Amino acid sequence: MQEQISTSPSRGLHIITWGCQMNVYDSARMADVLRPLGYSPVDLPDNADMIILNTCHIRERAAEKVFSELGRLRQIREARKLEGKETLIAVAGCVAQAEGKELLARAPYVDLVLGPQTYHRLPEMVARIARAGGSVIDTDFPVESKFDLLPEEAAPQNEGNLTAFLTIQEGCDKFCSFCVVPYTRGAETSRPVASILAEAERLVASGVKEITLLGQNVNAFHGDWNGGTASLPELAALLHEKIPALKRLRYITSHPRDMEQALIDAHRSNPIFMPYLHLPVQSGSDKVLKAMNRGHTADEYREIIRRLREARPDIALTSDFIVGHPGETDEDFEATMQLVRDVRFASAYSFKYSQRPGTPAAGQPFQVAENVKEKRLAALQALLREQQDAFNASLVGTVQDVLVTGHGRKPGQLNGRSPYLQPVHFEGSPSLIGKIVKVRITAPFTNSLGGHLHEQESTAI
Ligand code: SAM
Ligand code: SF4
Repeated sequence: MQEQISTSPSRGLHIITWGCQMNVYDSARMADVLRPLGYSPVDLPDNADMIILNTCHIRERAAEKVFSELGRLRQIREARKLEGKETLIAVAGCVAQAEGKELLARAPYVDLVLGPQTYHRLPEMVARIARAGGSVIDTDFPVESKFDLLPEEAAPQNEGNLTAFLTIQEGCDKFCSFCVVPYTRGAETSRPVASILAEAERLVASGVKEITLLGQNVNAFHGDWNGGTASLPELAALLHEKIPALKRLRYITSHPRDMEQALIDAHRSNPIFMPYLHLPVQSGSDKVLKAMNRGHTADEYREIIRRLREARPDIALTSDFIVGHPGETDEDFEATMQLVRDVRFASAYSFKYSQRPGTPAAGQPFQVAENVKEKRLAALQALLREQQDAFNASLVGTVQDVLVTGHGRKPGQLNGRSPYLQPVHFEGSPSLIGKIVKVRITAPFTNSLGGHLHEQESTAI
């Protein structure tokens, strides 16, 4: 994923975002932090007085990708210099956190290197460079929480300000064998409920109808509330009770081990929860799940899915898979295929295992050969694609509540979002943008749906 944030310049700011939704959220917050210094987002790096590359470290060649992009940014900086313009180059995010010093050694022209936990200190870092020149590196895990120090701005909004991400939890204590997150994002922490409610209220007051709560382990959330703590289903209940104009709620990413019954029950009882859940399983083999340190078996995952479907029969499930974890045999891979056949996913992400330096799996013997990983990935993706097509086809003829997010590509066409997170295209009046309308689904595509406004039942909210 690559997103670019933009508006008009006083000092131009251009942020390039790679990776997960949390990085999208962080990029918008960096823009908030820099606004009081006169930085406004611009579309092109060529017009930017400051360029931030917000990086992701989750899979292979992360650092190489950063250096190649930095080479391009350096050329832009040189070209601007010939016009007498200065450009600050910053590297943020998980590659900065993991490889900060090496990064500066290999690309000394980088001015700022900052981790995901220190971007509230950006103004201080910029001031330090203005005063003393040179480069600044800040990859601490500070005791102060950045959330207490960020400006009270609305967080990132997309699709015409109707949907927004809201980070409620960061870091991870699970230490899966393959994953860099516990090292780059630090220990698991939850934001206090009051600060989340305040941010959600601001978002909804600015027109947002659908919020996605974010966290590396979002369902492990336990935020301070009323002298104790509130869990994710309790937070969701508070959001529903206190912010009636919030129509839709999602959360990502969850761990099966934290999928407690109260959260499963909330999918039945809390009307703002969308019938959609991303629940990564990674593998269907108990032996591989154990080697991955996931803390559950394949059958325990199947049982969670059974309870979720009991609570919310129309729930659509998505997942993440890794093929070729060290030690994975053909038999283990077949167990993954069987789990996919048993569960039936609405969509899923799947990856070849990638050795991440410093993680336990990277040093294990029995690394799987690249061509074997490729074969397994192709087979898994073919099966997942079949299931995605079947899920989309199963919606033909049904009437879905669609949040209308904007104009479509064709004249007279509108775009929206189904409860299952699929883009939906249909014809309708632009006055419907921002409303939730009923759409009869007529055409299934792989990554979207087509439909017609269902006039009689269109109770636009
Ligand atoms: N916290 C989530 C969980 O427990 O499943 C996952 C967060 S991780 C940022 C997103 C996905 O990246 C993982 O679910 C996993 O499938 C994939 N991933 C992480 N490390 C990987 C690696 N070393 N190689 C391949 N895929 C990886
Ligand atoms: Fe990484 Fe998720 Fe495992 Fe945490 S639970 S270590 S974020 S894969």
